[in-house]
Amino acid sequence: MAFVITSPCKDEKAGECVEVCPVDCIEEGKDMFYIDPAICIDCGACEAVCPVEAIYIEDEVPEAETKYIDINRKYFEEQ
Ligand code: SF4
Repeated sequence: MAFVITSPCKDEKAGECVEVCPVDCIEEGKDMFYIDPAICIDCGACEAVCPVEAIYIEDEVPEAETKYIDINRKYFEEQ
C-alpha cells in the first residue's frame, strides 16, 4: 500500500508534500508530483498538507482517479 497523488495536482504542483515527506519519496514530474510506492511508509503527512486534496491512500482513491495508482508506479519504473 502507498499514498497516491491524483489529478488535482496537475498544473497545481503546490509542493508542500515534498517538504513534509520523511522518506523523500515524492518527486516532481513535468505536470505533477508522484509518490514512489516502493518507498512510501504510509505516514499520511503529505495528505494532510496538500492544499488541493490530491493525495489518497491507495485503497481510498476515488473511482474516477484510480488510473493514477498505475501512473505513480510507472513514473518510477521508467526512471
Ligand atoms: Fe511520504 Fe508519508 Fe506521503 Fe508516503 S504518506 S509519500 S511517506 S509523506
